[in-house]
Amino acid sequence: MKLANHLCGRWQEGGGEGLALLDPVSGEPLVSVSSEGLDLAEALAFARREGGRALRAMTYEMRAAALTRVADVLQAKRADYFDISLRNSGATEADAGFDVDGAIFTLKAYARAGKVLGAGRCLREGARVPLAKDGVFQGQHFLVPMSGAAIFINAFNFPAWGLWEKAAPALLAGMPVFVKPATPTAWLAQRMVADVVEAGVLPPGALSIVCGSARDLLDHVGECDVVSFTGSADTAARIRNHPAVVARAVRINVEADSVNSAILGPDAVPGSAEFDLAVKEIVRELSIKAGQKCTAIRRVLAPAPVARALADAVAARLAKMPVGNPRTTGVRIGPLVSKAQQTAALAGLAKLREDAEVVYGGDPDFVPVDADPRQAAFVQPTLLFCEKGLAARYVHDVEVFGPVATVLPYADAAEAVAIARRGGGSLVASVYSADPAFVGALVPAIADLHGRIMVVDAAVGSNHTGHGNVMPTCLHGGPGRAGGGEELGGLRALAMYHRRHVVQGGPAVLELLSQEAVDAALLGA
Ligand code: NAP
Repeated sequence: MKLANHLCGRWQEGGGEGLALLDPVSGEPLVSVSSEGLDLAEALAFARREGGRALRAMTYEMRAAALTRVADVLQAKRADYFDISLRNSGATEADAGFDVDGAIFTLKAYARAGKVLGAGRCLREGARVPLAKDGVFQGQHFLVPMSGAAIFINAFNFPAWGLWEKAAPALLAGMPVFVKPATPTAWLAQRMVADVVEAGVLPPGALSIVCGSARDLLDHVGECDVVSFTGSADTAARIRNHPAVVARAVRINVEADSVNSAILGPDAVPGSAEFDLAVKEIVRELSIKAGQKCTAIRRVLAPAPVARALADAVAARLAKMPVGNPRTTGVRIGPLVSKAQQTAALAGLAKLREDAEVVYGGDPDFVPVDADPRQAAFVQPTLLFCEKGLAARYVHDVEVFGPVATVLPYADAAEAVAIARRGGGSLVASVYSADPAFVGALVPAIADLHGRIMVVDAAVGSNHTGHGNVMPTCLHGGPGRAGGGEELGGLRALAMYHRRHVVQGGPAVLELLSQEAVDAALLGA
């Protein structure tokens, strides 16, 4: 079956045989995708013209209600999505839940939050600025929804969440969504779009999808579009430098790769709650989605005296987690999504091994449960130990997109800061410590290179939301190599889909233009 593309308000099949999407356990072809011969210029124009106009005719609260209806449609089809996740991504039940339930949770969060913006259609920012004597001439800043399309070019690892975490704020802001999911796992995103389109809960043109190659899509981007990209740093650079993007100064948001850290404080010694919480979280990050999360822990910074004990504790837990076919009862860790990803991960692992010794795993010939290693795309969960600290050549730069992490001993807080910063900009760092001096020194010293810092101690215990778990109410994104983007953060995310401008004029004009505006301070409330 070739997946159709939803463009110009109708389903269209791309030409040729298309590219096959495979089951990463058996190698069996499932469906195929093609964007050959499709008129992407007209498809974008239709989204802007029909979808954008209809969405902007609605108020914020009407669009928030539409998000609730989208979430309800997806909730009703949840079982179908788990099945596609299993077949196309090799997802365990927990992995599929992370993606599918995470998508629905995020939509519901925006549906709830959006209500606060009420019947507004744009945002008024700050107080009026006096520009002349006696208040006859003033300035007022506004943010209006952009009249283009929100174009999402997404990564393979979150076909569901990756679509809806971007779509929820874009639709709420009043922008039509045009998504190009990553080819290897496009099926789930395509099915979700098909279900939402069939349910008729969004206006025509509000939701478009093209599966397969992006082809000439970027040639047609315009001044009022937003391109939000998630994927590798190499592709991000190509998109940023695309002639149409450069010429029209198109707004770009990038979520790229990241070598995230977990950092144990000096008090996180064996036997402490902080040590145990760190071990649990590191193992969870290595196992969930087989480490294919942009936020996953890649480097573990531990005080030198406890680093070996920490590595042993993590290894002991990993040894108890069966890796294999997610259809088999008891399996906890599934495959990577494709043979290509397996090859890339093993190549990255080989580089890390030039810096580090293997504590656990790392066997390219290991045999997964109920799967033929010749067809399947498994990587054995692997924990490495690197004594080289800042002198390591690869550990701070190579993101192995799989179940692989490296323990790095550090001597003091200053070295922990230097190693965390050596990641060159990360989505997240988690800190396991109840030592106020350590936390108080570390967090501000790494904050400008991290989008999110999670601090866990015994009092927080298991109430934390997770190192790798992105909450819709909190910022997602990171500086430097993480792409420099910002997503989520509650209603803050709407800012990317609005354009700020200032109107200078008399008070009557400003009053008139403010009638359908709500206070932009609500975005950060
Ligand atoms: P990728 O190869 O860069 O692909 C990402 C997307 O870009 C895919 O949809 C791909 O389409 C598309 N693409 C590739 N070349 C393009 C071009 N020249 N013009 C337009 N689109 C193009 O990345 P990936 O391998 O799918 O994703 C893995 C990476 O994403 C990891 O490094 C991970 O860290 C990062 N990631 C980051 C986040 C985050 O939120 N920061 C989240 C998830 C993943 P095709 O699939 O059709 O090639």
